[in-house]
Amino acid sequence: MFNKLTSKVNRASKLLQPIKVYPKGSSIKNDGLSKSHRLMLDMGIIRQANTGLYTLLPLGNRVLEKLISIVDYQLSNIGAQKINLPNLTNANLWAKTGRLKTMIPEIFQVTDRHRISYILSPTHEEAITNLIANIGPMQKNQLPLLLYQISNKWRDEMKPRLGLFRSREFVMKDLYSFDLTDEDALKSYKSIDEAYKNILDHIGIPYIVAIGDTGLMGGTVSHEYNYLSSIGEDTVLSCNSCGIHLNATLSDDKSTCRNCNQLLEKNSTIEIGHTFLLGTKYSSVFEATCHFNNKRVPLSMGCYGLGLTRLISASVEILSTNEDLRWPKCIAPYTN
Ligand SMILES: [Zn+2]
Repeated sequence: MFNKLTSKVNRASKLLQPIKVYPKGSSIKNDGLSKSHRLMLDMGIIRQANTGLYTLLPLGNRVLEKLISIVDYQLSNIGAQKINLPNLTNANLWAKTGRLKTMIPEIFQVTDRHRISYILSPTHEEAITNLIANIGPMQKNQLPLLLYQISNKWRDEMKPRLGLFRSREFVMKDLYSFDLTDEDALKSYKSIDEAYKNILDHIGIPYIVAIGDTGLMGGTVSHEYNYLSSIGEDTVLSCNSCGIHLNATLSDDKSTCRNCNQLLEKNSTIEIGHTFLLGTKYSSVFEATCHFNNKRVPLSMGCYGLGLTRLISASVEILSTNEDLRWPKCIAPYTN
């Protein structure tokens, strides 16, 4: 009886946590890795499998699962429904929107035995809009419709680096909103902004919400959720006078605020989330519509990303010392 019970206990001594031991008296050499990358490798949180590809070991996976439960809780609070789209998307869907051409260097593609081409999806605007179009016209009372998933995504980075910051496979939460009008879509956008702020407040690391670049996603309105860090690859310009924050790529004048002429502060940041109002850019291509006044009106959409593995490594980067790996308490693998 005793053996039966204890055989079900998780033992610390059995934990797969390959810690790198440095010889006594030796100092940690600067091997070009970021602090979080080196600490997570040395402490047996992640393990490199190939260039830009990492295995989450038991402790790393536990952190991810805790973060997922925080995200799930906040998104269910605003009525978002969780789904799971296939990771492979037919390349034809991406050809339809023209993104296959513009993003081709960064996309992993595979061909099946019938010579049909698929992409390992970095994001799912095409797949989800096609799904909604196939289900058929929505009714007004079904809207707003908020759908999200948390899954592995791929991007064939030119230079994968900094561990989970810029890896070729990563875990992302992607959410899509569907509304009847642009006005309603903006309401959805604001409710998701609130949910993001709740998630980030709960994690507790200070962040900046900046006006973002619409880039390859298209659309009209965009915001970026950033952590401040010297290893960040983005630059955010902030005005302490009127409180505006914006991605530096959006301003020709990098020193003076366009609103109030005060001096701008420049900070290196890590982008962990990005939201976009898309209008009908995707819904008109796939004919994802809503019945309204005896017409079929293309749905007004938004898309919302949150990089979970990136958020984890960013939090380690910001909180840790060179020797001590530190987590935000709510996602620490174990707490007492
Ligand atoms: Zn200003």
